[in-house]
Parts: sequence; C-alpha cells; structure tokens
Amino acid sequence: MSKWVYRFGDGAAEGRADMKNLLGGKGANLAEMASLGLPVPPGLTITTEVCTYYYANGRTYPDTLESEVNQAVAAIEKSVGARFGDEENPLLVSVRSGARVSMPGMMDTVLNLGLNDKTVEALAKQSDNARFAWDSYRRFIQMYSDVVLGVDHYHFEELIELHKEEKGVDLDTELDAEDWRQIAEGFKAKAQEELGYPFPQDVKEQLWGAIGAVFSSWHIERAKVYRKLNNIPEDWGTAVNVQAMVFGNMGETSATGVAFTRNPSTGDKEYYGEYLIDAQGEDVVAGIRTPQYLTKMAREEAGATAPSMEESMPAVFGQLADVFDKLERHYCDMQDIEFTVQHGKLWMLQTRSGKRTAKAALKIAVDMAAEGLIDEKTAVLRVEPGALDQLLHPTLDPDAPRDIFTRGLPASPGAASGIVVFDADTAEEMAKEGKAVILCRVETSPEDIHGMHAAKGILTARGGMTSHAAVVARGMGRPCVSGAGQLRIDAKNGVMSATGREVKAGDTITIDGASGEVMVGEVKTLQPELAGDFATLMKWADTYRKLKVRTNADTPHDTQTAREFGAEGIGLCRTEHMFFEGERIVAVREMILADDLEGRKSALAKLLPMQRSDFEEIFKIMRGLPVTIRLLDPPLHEFLPREEDEFEDVAKSIGADVEHLKRRAAELHEFNPMLGHRGCRLGITYPEIYEMQARAIFEAAITVEQKTGDTVVPEIMIPLVATRKELETLRAYVETVAEEVFTETGHRVEYLVGTMIELPRAAICADRIAVAADFFSFGTNDLTQTTIGISRDDAGRFLDQYVKQDIFAQDPFVSIDQEGVGELVKMGAERGRSTKPDLKLGICGEHGGDPASVEFCHRTGLDYVSCSPYRVPIARLAAAQAALKG
Ligand code: PEP
Ligand code: MG
Repeated sequence: MSKWVYRFGDGAAEGRADMKNLLGGKGANLAEMASLGLPVPPGLTITTEVCTYYYANGRTYPDTLESEVNQAVAAIEKSVGARFGDEENPLLVSVRSGARVSMPGMMDTVLNLGLNDKTVEALAKQSDNARFAWDSYRRFIQMYSDVVLGVDHYHFEELIELHKEEKGVDLDTELDAEDWRQIAEGFKAKAQEELGYPFPQDVKEQLWGAIGAVFSSWHIERAKVYRKLNNIPEDWGTAVNVQAMVFGNMGETSATGVAFTRNPSTGDKEYYGEYLIDAQGEDVVAGIRTPQYLTKMAREEAGATAPSMEESMPAVFGQLADVFDKLERHYCDMQDIEFTVQHGKLWMLQTRSGKRTAKAALKIAVDMAAEGLIDEKTAVLRVEPGALDQLLHPTLDPDAPRDIFTRGLPASPGAASGIVVFDADTAEEMAKEGKAVILCRVETSPEDIHGMHAAKGILTARGGMTSHAAVVARGMGRPCVSGAGQLRIDAKNGVMSATGREVKAGDTITIDGASGEVMVGEVKTLQPELAGDFATLMKWADTYRKLKVRTNADTPHDTQTAREFGAEGIGLCRTEHMFFEGERIVAVREMILADDLEGRKSALAKLLPMQRSDFEEIFKIMRGLPVTIRLLDPPLHEFLPREEDEFEDVAKSIGADVEHLKRRAAELHEFNPMLGHRGCRLGITYPEIYEMQARAIFEAAITVEQKTGDTVVPEIMIPLVATRKELETLRAYVETVAEEVFTETGHRVEYLVGTMIELPRAAICADRIAVAADFFSFGTNDLTQTTIGISRDDAGRFLDQYVKQDIFAQDPFVSIDQEGVGELVKMGAERGRSTKPDLKLGICGEHGGDPASVEFCHRTGLDYVSCSPYRVPIARLAAAQAALKG
C-alpha cells in the first residue's frame, strides 16, 4: 500500500533531504532539519504522488489519504499540546505548496488555518492579545476566501479602507482589537454575500479546502508560465505541507526573517539577511515595512540606525548563527533560510541551497574547498559554466538606473556604452579619435568587420544568435545585441527609432549583450576580475577534463585573448575575415573580378605577403600549439562592392570599366549562396586561390620555425567537403605546394590536411572521406543548417516560436540538437575512426562553447572543442564537469 503522508517534528522525521521528488524541496528539507534536531514546527507532507493521483482521477484523492492525514494531525496535536478546532486550546496550521524545485510565489499558501468564531476567542485568551487574535482571523478569512473560495482580495481591502475612514485613521496600526473584530465580521458577511453560503467554520473542511486549493494551484496560469520559462516538467506536481503555525507577530519578543549563510552576491563568508520584529513572514517579502539587518556589521556598513537582530535579540541570534553553521556543515553548501521567533523561541521554517551570482558561486566553491567542507571535484561541479560569462565581460552595475529603449537577442555578452554610429567607416574614424562608439546596423556583413572591431559594442535590427554580427562579435569579445525586432534604423538620415522614441547619430546608448537590453544614455559598468578564485577553479577544472579546448580566432588580438583564457591552440582560423582589411579588399576584388587566370594570379600575388604575415603572427602567439587554418569558405560575391560609389572606387583602383565590373558581379549572383559556389567548391574551380593560401601558410610556418626555433605544425582545413574526391583533389594541390615551398626554402615542416564535416553527406561518408583526411572538425553551424534545413541567417524569425511551443527544447544553433544533428556527429566520428582509429576529431561550430554541447562532445569521444575566445573558460569548465559526471 502506498504511503501518502510523511511526518516531521520533535527531532524526528519520516522523510529525508534526498526525497525531493516525493516530498518536494520544502518538505524534504523540513524533514531533514527535524531529524537534525533543529527547532522545526511539527507537520506533515502530502506527497507529489497524491498530486499526480489527484489529476489522474478527476481531482479526487486516494482512499487512505484522509486517515493518514488524520493520524498525522493527531501527532502534531500531541507535539504542540493543542487540538485542531479546540475551543480552549486550538491548533493552527499553515498549508503550503512545495514542488521539487522552488517556484517562488507561483502556487497558493494559506496561513492561520483552524481559526473560526470560537477558536479566535480562545486564541485571544491564550495569547492574552485580542488584537493579535482578531487580526489573525481576518487575515485568514481574507486569504482563505481568496485562495480557496475564489473571492477576490480587493473586496476585503475595501472594507478595511472603509473602516479606517469611518474611524478617521490612516494606518492599520491604529486599529485595535475591536476594530479587527468588526472587520472580521464584515469579511465573513462579504464572503457569504459573494459565495451564497457562510464562511466555513468547520476546521476539517477548512483543511481539505486548502489542500485541494494547493494541488489545484499547480495548474494556475502563472505556475504554468513559470514552468515553461524554467523547463520544469508539467508532470512533477507539487507536495502539500501542513505545519503547526508559529507567530512572529506576537509582540516585541517575536520576529520573522530570511537569511543566507553567506553573502549571495559577493560570496563573502558572513551571515546575510533581514528580519522584522512583530511581523509575519509575508510582511518581510511584501515590503510594507523596511526590514532590518541581521548583523551589526551589515547595519553599520549600511549606516542604518534600526538595531540589527544581533543587537536586539542577542540570545536568539546566537542560536540562529549556530543553526546556520550546522546547516552549512550538513548540506555542504550555502543555505537560504526562513525563520520565525515566537516569544523569544527560534523556529526554522525552510532551508534550501541559496541562489547566488556567478562571482559568489566561484568564491563559495573555492572557499568551501579550502575550509574542507567539499573537495575540489565538488567545487568544480558547483559552478555553472554558462554563468562564467557574467564574469568575463564588463557587466552593468545592478544599482545603476536604466532607461530601456528597446530589446533584442543577447547575442554576445558584456555591456558597453558609446555614441551611436550607423556605418563601419565612421565607427573606425571616431574610435581613432578615442571615442567609444556603438555600431548600429540593420544587419552586419563581412565588410563591417573593421567598424565592429573599432566599436565598443554592436546593435543590429535583424539576425539571430548565429547571424554574422553575433558570431563575429562573440569572436571579438564585443558585446552585441542582435535582432532587435522593433528597432527601425534609418542610417541615411542618422536616426533610429523604437516604441515611439528616436535616438540620433551621436547620442549615447548602452547595450547589455547578456540580457539583450538597449538603454538610452550611459549606464555604469563593472569590470571583470580574472585572477584569484577564477584562476584557482579553472586550474582545478583543467586537471579533470579529457577534452582539449581550442579557440576560433583569426586576428592576433583574438588569438592573444584566447591564449590568456587558456586556449590550447586554434581550432578554426577563418581566413576570409583577413580578406576584408584595409587594402586587401581591393586585391581580393581584383582577383574575383578578373576575367582570366592571369588576372586572378596577379591579384593573388598581391595578397600572398599579407596572408603570410597574418599567419606568422598567429603562429608566433600560439607558439608550440596546434593551429588549424581553414582555406577560403564564403561565396565570392560576399567580397564584392554593393554601392555605386564602391564600384567606382574598385574600377579606379584596378583600372577597369565600371559597367564591366557590374556585369561580372551580376554573374556571380546566386539565389541560394549558402548552398552555392562556396567552400571547397572554390578550391576545385579556382585552385590558384587555395594554392596561394597554402603557400602563405607554409612560408609563414617555415619563417617562424627558423626565427623562433619553435616547431610549428599547421593543420590545413578544407571546408564544405561532401565527397572523398573533393578532399583528395585539394589535398594533392596542398601537397604539391608544400613540396615546392620546401624545395625553395630547403626547410620542411610537418603539417596535417583535414576537413570540416559540415554536410550530412560528409558525415554519412566519413569512412571514405577519412582515407584522405588527417583530422575532422565538425562544423556544426552548417551541419545544423543543412540537416534541419533551416537558414542560419533567417531562422531567428520563427525559431523563438519553435522554442516557445516546445518543438525544439532550445535554439539548435545555440545548443546542439543531440538527437538529429548530434547523431550525424556521432556517425561521422565512428565512421571516420573505423577507417583511421587515431583520427583527430574536433568541433568548431558555435556549439563548441555551449556547456550542454561540450558534454555531448565529451560523450562522443571527440579530442577537442573549439570556441570563441571568451567562451574558452566556459568550455574548460564544462569539459571538466562532463568528465566528472562520467
Ligand atoms: C560551421 O559551419 O560550423 C563553421 C564552423 O564554419 P562557419 O561558421 O564559418 O560556416
Ligand atoms: Mg561552415
């Protein structure tokens, strides 16, 4: 026979902390505290299984529930020495919800249950405080009518206001016992008027009404919305806790409060919290009165005068401090606690692991390891990798006021303020003058790179989380808000607008790339701190992880940043970004627009020294570490001029006719460029491009080896391969160039030639492709795009609906779609290694910096993940956690 009810109190309990699924978080921890001998008002927990039963059986209860509840209530009565509904010595209880994870304020609660016309008199006599008794009764009628009987709160508030008016007073505190008695009578009459029957006087009826209301509240709208937002399954259900009431509002020796065992925002080892004398729990939360500090130190720091609990109730504070220490030692984690003091006696009402900022999480984990409360492994598991993002970038000062202008996607974290500019050239010019600018574009293209680099932050009206702006900004560590759908940008007239307001070029705005908020004016930011606890925890993480962590970087600056964040090489250097800088774009355009091979070759000859010096710099910074360089990938038309005056400039610089250039550009136009003439298809049709790049790589590697004495092992990567033949053909070109360069210089370097696996066909045919590959790197951006058939650039328009409607649990461009795209990665890895057991495997799509995807890569047996520089620490920690979780 199932057990539906678990009891706790008097130093014992039937439940335990690890029974959260059955008893809910609150019930499980109340049981645990009772077993620890802490002062917990006795009570009972009705399990979440009853909730499941209730919904599966037309809102009815299991047969034996009533008798189990009756027995448990009898035990509470015995413990407290009072009886439920007794007219001399009544027991009062609270009825609260409690799901597996806390859903603050989402479900219903009823306090002071057990009061009726008779028991209220007894309570008045017993407490020698008629005002308290009648105030409690009217609170109960109000709460019960609202929560259980569906009579709106405002009906009662109105009656209180009327009564105060009649009496000619302003404050509740000016009402006496007789006033509250009259108000309680008024409330009952009001309830009867609304309901058509009298307010229930039978305490059992009250109890079952409240239990039913708590179970029903699992399905109220706000709880459903909260579950959706927090990924809490609908079928978990809630438990119900019925517990003897204790009162913090019984005068000057009573109080109520909330506390953390350590500071949840800094992580400092100090008691932290608030309390109120002569108040009930909801008074602290509701903010009607200003709560006072718990400790003397906190009060003094804040310059407050109202005495701290440490000062006003030193004995109880001492007991509370002992409880804090006991709970921390027991749970080995920082606790978030609710307590009440009734006539100088301390009662614990709740404990749970406290929510904390990323900074506090780090500090608490490292400190607790030093204190011997937890070991290093546990410390590594305690910090959420994604939360590190908060620490690596400047963040907005939480206390600074914000004037929100509009919102977009949180595309690249960090906060920045600057003046609004609408084009990349102006951004660059103004940055040179030492001004902080925010580059605002409808969307960005590779031509904007220099402006993005010069800007402190980037804002776009269009584009999703893997749009050009988002990917490039993350790579550079620039804060970025993308896809701000309500934003209208009129760059020609130097103005943008959203929700009826305008911001002009030259005005200051602030963007928060972690939340997606865009604010008018400057908002103060706080700088990151990377030494200390951060460094300690990362060092521990590195000892446990199996995956290597590389970076996606294509400028010396990014490469340097990534090294400082602990990157162990470059997993993806996208060479196309190098083609946009300064005078190179002219040579690139000359190459693309040339009519014949000769024309292309002469343009490529101009690019060769520039590419060579790019690679030299990167090899030098990454000395001794592997560097994967990807040959040209995007469709060529991305490099072409768009505006009339740009065509004229190009024509002039290469001595060609404007009309001819335009015709050539039109020839290159593609309807579907992402599936077009790009990737290795460029190498097949224009081998000279890849040959130039391969030459630049080998010459650079040889120069750096000769200059520094370090070994350089370039890994040359061919993009968008679908067939073995493509890779074989291109590999042969690379090998030929290598031999040429080795002969010319009389120096050989070791090198690898590998491929990206970013098309489904490549994953399926990986065993055959592996014959020609020294390594695979999974390009999960394109693989997601081509597997699901959704565009990286446009899917943002409908993907959030897909996520809202639970069709995708998450944006598949952010966290790898494990059952679809992930299967192809697995297949590619297995088939590749079936041909070459030692084939080196990595991932370089954006997923390489997403914790869940990193865990997937660990399970799939990849050798490394590669991600943008600022995500390197996140990947290091996620890889360690994946290894520790086994
Ligand atoms: C990919 O497709 O996953 C990849 C890394 O290449 P890119 O984002 O440059 O297309
Ligand atoms: Mg790709």
